[in-house]
Amino acid sequence: MYNIILFGAPGSGKGTQSQMIVEKYGLKHLSTGDVLRAEIATGSELGKQIDALISEGNLVPDDMIFGVIEKYIAQLPKHCKGTIFDGYPRTLPQAVALTGLLKKYNMKATMIDLMVDEQLLIQRLIERGKVSGRADDNLNTIRHRIAVYHDQTEPIAHYYLRQGNYFAVNGNYSMEDVFMQICRIVERESKKS
Ligand code: AMP
Repeated sequence: MYNIILFGAPGSGKGTQSQMIVEKYGLKHLSTGDVLRAEIATGSELGKQIDALISEGNLVPDDMIFGVIEKYIAQLPKHCKGTIFDGYPRTLPQAVALTGLLKKYNMKATMIDLMVDEQLLIQRLIERGKVSGRADDNLNTIRHRIAVYHDQTEPIAHYYLRQGNYFAVNGNYSMEDVFMQICRIVERESKKS
């Protein structure tokens, strides 16, 4: 099994690249953002609490996310080729929890960081907002989400770097170019696992 943590700021292309990786390598895709939006769509009390946090561009508390990941990993079919974690982990406790869970099943994950200039991130998210209908794709919330990323999420790259499990790609290029960079890493690193 080969697991990838697709890392990067909002608008760095994690969702798009995840789809391309799924098609080429047959990995499963877990987007915690999608799981949370699905909970919101049920109209539940929990969904309402999550909606308030996401709409403001804040992270959902770690405890709410832990259960999602735990359940996902426990239910992975034996024949699964691996997972792309998209939008998880986003905090250091989430990263530590993921390492522990993967270890339990004798697995690990490689972090691939999509590095994109801030102006381009904002431009992409504004464009996406015109069609996504996402409440968090507006300029004020976008700026806040990027600040939250720098403050709470970006530092965990060091956690993976220290483990020799971190690879950066230049995400400013076209999606095909970025995908080629990712494929080179996947093909090299998956041979080692
Ligand atoms: P995304 O679809 O990955 O852009 O996530 C949208 C929003 O969902 C984020 O801005 C957070 O509010 C929330 N979210 C998604 N994944 C996580 C996570 N791992 N931890 C905390 N909040 C999350």
